Amino acid sequence: LRVLIGAATCGRAAGATEVVQAFREECASVPELQDVEIREVGCLGMCHAEPLVEIQGPDGTQVLYQGVLAHMVPDLVRDHLLEGRLASKLALCRMEGKSQDGEDEEMPCFADLPMIRHQLRIVLRNCGLIDPSNIDHYIAQGGYSGFARAIGMGSDAVIEEIKLSGIRGRGGAGFPTGLKWSFARKAQGNVKYVICNADEGDPGAFMDRSVLEGDPHAVLEGLLIAGYAIGAGHGYVYCRAEYPLALERLRTAIEQMRAKGFLGRDILGSGFDFDITIKMGAGAFVCGEETSLMQSIEGKRGMPRSRPPFPAVSGMFGKPTNINNVETLAAVSAIMEKGGAWYAGIGTEKSKGTKTFSLAGKITRTGLIEVPMGISLRTIIEDIGGGVLDGKAFKAVQTGGPSGGCVPAKHYDLPVDYEHLAQVGSIMGSGGMIVIDEESCMVDVAKYFLGFTENESCGKCVPCRMGTQHLLRLLTTITEGQGSVEDLETIRGIGDTMKKASLCGLGQTAPNPALTTLDSFMDEYLAHIRDHK
Ligand code: SF4
Repeated sequence: LRVLIGAATCGRAAGATEVVQAFREECASVPELQDVEIREVGCLGMCHAEPLVEIQGPDGTQVLYQGVLAHMVPDLVRDHLLEGRLASKLALCRMEGKSQDGEDEEMPCFADLPMIRHQLRIVLRNCGLIDPSNIDHYIAQGGYSGFARAIGMGSDAVIEEIKLSGIRGRGGAGFPTGLKWSFARKAQGNVKYVICNADEGDPGAFMDRSVLEGDPHAVLEGLLIAGYAIGAGHGYVYCRAEYPLALERLRTAIEQMRAKGFLGRDILGSGFDFDITIKMGAGAFVCGEETSLMQSIEGKRGMPRSRPPFPAVSGMFGKPTNINNVETLAAVSAIMEKGGAWYAGIGTEKSKGTKTFSLAGKITRTGLIEVPMGISLRTIIEDIGGGVLDGKAFKAVQTGGPSGGCVPAKHYDLPVDYEHLAQVGSIMGSGGMIVIDEESCMVDVAKYFLGFTENESCGKCVPCRMGTQHLLRLLTTITEGQGSVEDLETIRGIGDTMKKASLCGLGQTAPNPALTTLDSFMDEYLAHIRDHK
């Protein structure tokens, strides 16, 4: 008998900690239930239905319950664990198998839920299913076999395998990962570093946090493989201090790796020495940029520097350094386990594999999803997300966070991949997806994101420091009814200059929300100006 409780940050916010406690107390008070295993797991991705509890009952059934609160636990324990009956009011699905034709529709299986059936969970393969603080659970799912395969192949072959997979960096820029690794591998020097960028800071984004909380070993195995491939002896995980549970999971996982011989000297007899250090960030958005992140680890103020030299040649402490984000590394461990050709068979011609997105905003089913590249925006929002909240009309979706752009409803059937999002003026970014309904004002949306980037601009270069301030001031003036038509041209001019002249990605992309809403929602800007005249 086993009870799995989704106790990632989203679950805890909904009351999972109290649910865990209630199950412990209830089972301890019943003699027949002394041996029930109560397991805290990560996020299954269905944040709208938290707290989620999976009960593996005496008859072998595995049933997922949604919206379980602490006061409901005694009834659940009695019904399901003691009497083997379904507590049907809260039952969401069976976890095992696939639904057969004609089967009882009231009890679908997990894989056939509308939110799940269009997904392909590679990065999220273990989230919500295994105990993230138990390395044996990860190993039982095939964990660390990708690393074992890597050391059997040799570093150059590993890089070729990653190139074959076609995976591109999931942190936002979309640079081919295998190519990036080959630059760091070829760089001269005995001391090299690999870094996992876990400095997730976009409003509405929680992909990295969920993966670290639900399956930290998948990420750390990816970092280990990256270190082996480029010839680095040390890895860093740069994770923001606002993610205490993710940090706790990482610390536990690193200790367990060391105890199992996956860190230290001569790992698995391969002659490869490697260790990992966690570095906490203080929450500056700009520290997600590679060069600022490295400065922050060096103990300096996190500010971008111009490139070249590129980190692969001269990065942290002046040594060749490779940086990948959480999602990329979690995918790498799966790629090395199953092969580059397998991964390359998923997605589109130029955008291979899957992408995680955090679905947020005015959407019925908020949560964390993973879909094959090329899936349409409509499928994500209507089928997976259950459509716009309260039956309102879909107006736009902001992809890529404050660096991205608003994709309007006319592009509802757009395939979601790097190329198509760029064609409509937005970006994939790290995977934030904020749905906007018919009642939201797009000028307010643009102003909100400009407020964020203006606050987070490090101030090092003039186009971004002054540009974000000017844009925010203009947008504020317009929403307060003091704007003019000339202001709209000024916004375009400043935005174009920032894109061309800012030093780093923050400033280069900060005007995107204003520029894309101007392109698609000019009438709303004009209404603000006209209505107040
Ligand atoms: Fe700093 Fe903005 Fe310039 Fe980047 S673009 S260096 S965040 S001022």
